[in-house]
Amino acid sequence: MTREYLEDSFLGSREAAKSMPKEVMPEEGMNPDLAETLIKHIRLNEAKADQNFATFCTTQMEPQADELMMSGLETNAIDKSEYPKTAAMENYCVSMLGHLWGLPEDKKLFKDFIGTSTVGSSEGCMLGGLAMLFSWKHRAKANGIDIDNLHEHRPNLVIVSAYQVVWEKFCHYWNVEMREVPMSKDDNGTISMDMDTVMDYVDENTIGIVSIEGITYTGGLDNTEKLNDLVEAYNQDHPKMPLRIHVDAASGGFYEPFMEGFKPWDFRLKNVKSINVSGHKYGMVYPGIGWIVWRENTKECLPEELRFSVPYLGGSVDSIAINFSRSGAHILGQYYNFVRFGKEGYHEVMSNTHEVAVRLADALEKFDIFDMVKGSDGLPIICWTLSKHANVNWTLYDLEDKLKEYGWQVPAYPLPKIKNVDQPIIVSRVVCRPAMTMAICDDFIEDLDAAIKELNEKFNK
Ligand SMILES: *Cc1c(COP(=O)(O)O)cnc(C)c1O
Repeated sequence: MTREYLEDSFLGSREAAKSMPKEVMPEEGMNPDLAETLIKHIRLNEAKADQNFATFCTTQMEPQADELMMSGLETNAIDKSEYPKTAAMENYCVSMLGHLWGLPEDKKLFKDFIGTSTVGSSEGCMLGGLAMLFSWKHRAKANGIDIDNLHEHRPNLVIVSAYQVVWEKFCHYWNVEMREVPMSKDDNGTISMDMDTVMDYVDENTIGIVSIEGITYTGGLDNTEKLNDLVEAYNQDHPKMPLRIHVDAASGGFYEPFMEGFKPWDFRLKNVKSINVSGHKYGMVYPGIGWIVWRENTKECLPEELRFSVPYLGGSVDSIAINFSRSGAHILGQYYNFVRFGKEGYHEVMSNTHEVAVRLADALEKFDIFDMVKGSDGLPIICWTLSKHANVNWTLYDLEDKLKEYGWQVPAYPLPKIKNVDQPIIVSRVVCRPAMTMAICDDFIEDLDAAIKELNEKFNK
């Protein structure tokens, strides 16, 4: 029996000495404050989000955005009859993205192109892949290709070997053959899709080529501009079965438009038909939002099979996304960021992130035991390997473990296939995000220094 004076005390409550329900739902419920406190206690041992350098995802928004998103939590983004203003804001965001991504001057009206919000880039990639698949089927059929003969005409997708897992899912789910182009070093020393051989992977069964603006493994960029040239030459020779490019710009799509020095990678390139981005990466919204935009609102770009109209929510609601009901909060968060920061604001935030990346890359080089796989040029993602001359008896996996003791998450893992390289390359990677301020970076560099000294002592003596 709880004494009355302990009623408001968590530590004095009997629940503080009880394990939490894990397998079956408890028979009786509990007081809401208690439930909240207990669940917070379960989370105490989770890593601090801002010390997680493995993730690309946003961990900080402004308090005003938090409040706005809370106010939209109960809305259902798909119910465009009940929440027409949220639906309108979704369209504003799609439109702003289309404009940011270099739509041609005569195709800039919102009815000329089309897109949707998604739960993340995964849903965006899935939709981009499906649009390529159905579009290919129509083209193939019209050209007398027997698409039911999977032995000879199994559709294939061409992509760099360092694809994000969603593309593997796409190919498995829809029985599409994945043709992996190895990575190679380009003139700038960037490791990305090998442009010398990519077209060897293409044939009449190719539904399209995916170009990745922000290879998850390294932060490198596929050379979409060069790819567009190659595809254009191919299409001149194959006017009936032209190829198209989908750009997976999960991370780059919200960074490159605001910064100088990037080659054209978006709708400025003729054969780029669709682009996806994660709103929750450099779009600066909490996890749960992505976008896809198709350059033209045509059946060729986005086939009829992917356009649905729903009568049962009142009026007629158009739906392109795979997911149906979800909160409108993230759309509010994205629109807030667009109007709150504007292009200039995004530029300033990304510039800060760039400076942090420069500092980190410099610090890593000064240790004189690492080789940069991807430095601070391009996206603010830093990726390095242990130098052959490092002369240490520990690995990057040991460094990962050691840094974890200091609270930092810096993953180590092998890179996928690189042309003419037999040994797998083990790398470490840090994703510099807006929430990684210089103060945090400096702190990390100090701990990195201490961690390396500890490892040297532990393994060398
Ligand atoms: C993160 C990422 C994805 C998946 O995005 P989510 O928003 O997490 O679903 C797809 N492709 C690339 C290149 C990515 O970096």
